[in-house]
Amino acid sequence: MAIIKVGKEDLKNRDSALNELREYFSGLSASKGREITYSVRTYGCQLNESDSEKLCGMLESMGLTEYEGDKTADVVIFNTCAVRENAEDRLFGNLGIIKSDRKNDKDMIVAVCGCMTMVEKNVDKIRKSFPYVDLVFDPQHIHLFPVYLRDSLRRKKQLVNISADDYIVDDSLVPIARKRKFRALVPIMYGCNNFCTYCIVPYARGRERSREVGEIIEELEILAYQGYKEVMLLGQNVNSYKSSEGDRFPALLKAASAIKGFSRIRFMSSHPKDISDEIIEIMASSSNIETHLHLPLQSGSDRILKLMNRPYDITDYLKTVHYFRKMVPDGSLSTDIIVGFPGETEDDFKRTLDVVSECAFDSAFTFQYSPRPGTKAALMEDQIPHDVVTERFGRLLDLQNNLAYKSNLAKVGKTEEILIEGMSSTAPDILTGRTMSNHLINFTIPDSLKIEGKSADDYEGMLCDVKFTSARPYSVDGEMVKLK
Ligand code: SF4
Repeated sequence: MAIIKVGKEDLKNRDSALNELREYFSGLSASKGREITYSVRTYGCQLNESDSEKLCGMLESMGLTEYEGDKTADVVIFNTCAVRENAEDRLFGNLGIIKSDRKNDKDMIVAVCGCMTMVEKNVDKIRKSFPYVDLVFDPQHIHLFPVYLRDSLRRKKQLVNISADDYIVDDSLVPIARKRKFRALVPIMYGCNNFCTYCIVPYARGRERSREVGEIIEELEILAYQGYKEVMLLGQNVNSYKSSEGDRFPALLKAASAIKGFSRIRFMSSHPKDISDEIIEIMASSSNIETHLHLPLQSGSDRILKLMNRPYDITDYLKTVHYFRKMVPDGSLSTDIIVGFPGETEDDFKRTLDVVSECAFDSAFTFQYSPRPGTKAALMEDQIPHDVVTERFGRLLDLQNNLAYKSNLAKVGKTEEILIEGMSSTAPDILTGRTMSNHLINFTIPDSLKIEGKSADDYEGMLCDVKFTSARPYSVDGEMVKLK
């Protein structure tokens, strides 16, 4: 289904709102004798991160600067995730914490957007319990944030703007403040039509809509020209990408790979029902497409997959895994697994452990089932007791941690090209980066390779060769042997 483009009227309205807000914030800055700051707090997936980069871009074009201190910014936006209960609890917890700041500063602005706003009970709770939240708006119309902000300032009371549109409007004119100078997040499609019974995303992000190939390639060419080394092609299910001309994901991946300048083309997420051998063959034959495949399994039991409304079985899944392992021998495989889905028996869970062992995942996002109001699974009988879920979750973690460590251990002694992401969070003189297979590497840089006057962060976006010296559960250590 083709993407819905932003309309001329909306663009005009947004631009006039941006002008009005620029004047308002420059007046506020003059009266406070300081810059006006913003902070966008992002929960959830990389699609949310990509939306947050657009919010930051619009706030910066209003003349605001990003706040990095430990107090509170003048404008605070919570870009929320509704996939799990704890993500929701974190929002309400943070809204509680920010209450006194908002009460003490009449000029402060608090806004909430993202997937939680598409769940009515959450919006009701914000209305009733957090009346000091100035603005609530949905992810469908994030490009109209300046219009909603202007309107909420004019109203001087809470504004809730949730549209019923079941799709996301695409807007390539919205200003974007990208977080990393070497990596760009590029949504290729929005929404999901799969309706897995435990998932709120299809209700929060609407129906699948794909951007046109020409438009994505144009954006990628500009990013390559601007010096971005890595792009992440994003979608809830990139394999079901289909442009209005009928172009599918393999064609888009090939076209992206042909653009000069990118060292790494990554994509997320794939769906086992749509992943094709052709995509794996393109990964195997391209020098700049990552050798990491993220393929959510969720459960190793066909019976549970049916209850989850995930239309593939373990035989299909393993066929894809074996083909990937054959075609991309140095590649890595990651997955998502839910433990404790309603009705899951000990035998179902054992099947999950068996599949995990057979696939030998290099890493995995593992979750305890969390009932989401509004989903079919939340109404299912046989909800599993928490202590049973926790005990099973512990067994899965033990197995998966062991596999992840083995995957890192297998890297020791090898030398591979790394895209430097900057200073490691563990030590100031340690750099961090990733292999083509998405393994996390922390490494030293010998004095002989250091560039005079460069700090660790100045190496961000550069390529180098690193010899791997030792492994840890979630990363590999090494030493740079060549700076490229
Ligand atoms: S594929 Fe399933 S789990 Fe993934 S976003 Fe769609 S409905 Fe949710």
